[in-house]
Amino acid sequence: MASRTLVSVRGLVKAYGDFTVLHGIDLDIAEGEVVCVVGPSGSGKSTLIRCINRLEDFSKDSVIEIDGLPVERGPSLAQVRAEVGMVFQNFNLFPHMTVVKNVMLAPMRVRRTPSDHARVQALKLLERVGIAEQAEKYPGQLSGGQQQRVAIARALAMEPRVMLFDEPTSALDPEMVGEVLDVMRDLAKTGVTMVVVTHEMGFARQVADRVIFMDGGRIVEAGTPPDIFDSPREQRTRDFLRAVL
Ligand code: ADP
Ligand code: MG
Repeated sequence: MASRTLVSVRGLVKAYGDFTVLHGIDLDIAEGEVVCVVGPSGSGKSTLIRCINRLEDFSKDSVIEIDGLPVERGPSLAQVRAEVGMVFQNFNLFPHMTVVKNVMLAPMRVRRTPSDHARVQALKLLERVGIAEQAEKYPGQLSGGQQQRVAIARALAMEPRVMLFDEPTSALDPEMVGEVLDVMRDLAKTGVTMVVVTHEMGFARQVADRVIFMDGGRIVEAGTPPDIFDSPREQRTRDFLRAVL
């Protein structure tokens, strides 16, 4: 695996008023690495990955860099954000646009890609997530699993350096979880750098290069899947795993 650092998080502190959600997170993500973030509800997992593309503001002393570029407010933010693909729990597709248009939109708007080229690229991506035949439908006509695959294709359309997933299968009916995890597994195999917040411990064990356990706004423990799942060192990690496995 490549060891070049793609995402660097230094001393990340995030508070809502008096309530501190993240207490100084340090995290490096290497190019091509797949990192799964696990932990109880409210531990700050979503906040952490939302800070990475500055969907959330964070304390002034914190530094997040993507490929050496600081993720800070200002003229460069749009450029840095374009390097980060994000997939949410609830898909967040544009309901009034067809599937293929959803995937074409960002390249056309942000990269000024001509529409015929954007369409060709979008259809390739829909092929990659196994859903090309749905291209002219509207999101509301698709199953949850299909919509989430479109959302993944849409994020990939910007050719991001890193993909962030926030519980991408949590809103799905159980029978649709597998098809989305399969797509994510394929992305991981093809070298896409990924940070995945998930409750799917089987996926984390199988696909992650590194698993991070968060609790109370801190990284309590991090390691390979066998480190975390088979011989966790921290009592909090053991308690969490006992509850979910
Ligand atoms: P997780 O994704 O691990 O469930 P979150 O990152 O969503 O956790 O939330 C971490 C903590 O921050 C929780 O205690 C949550 O209540 C709090 N929090 C999240 N968003 C806000 C907000 N907009 N205002 C105040 N507190 C928030
Ligand atoms: Mg969350």
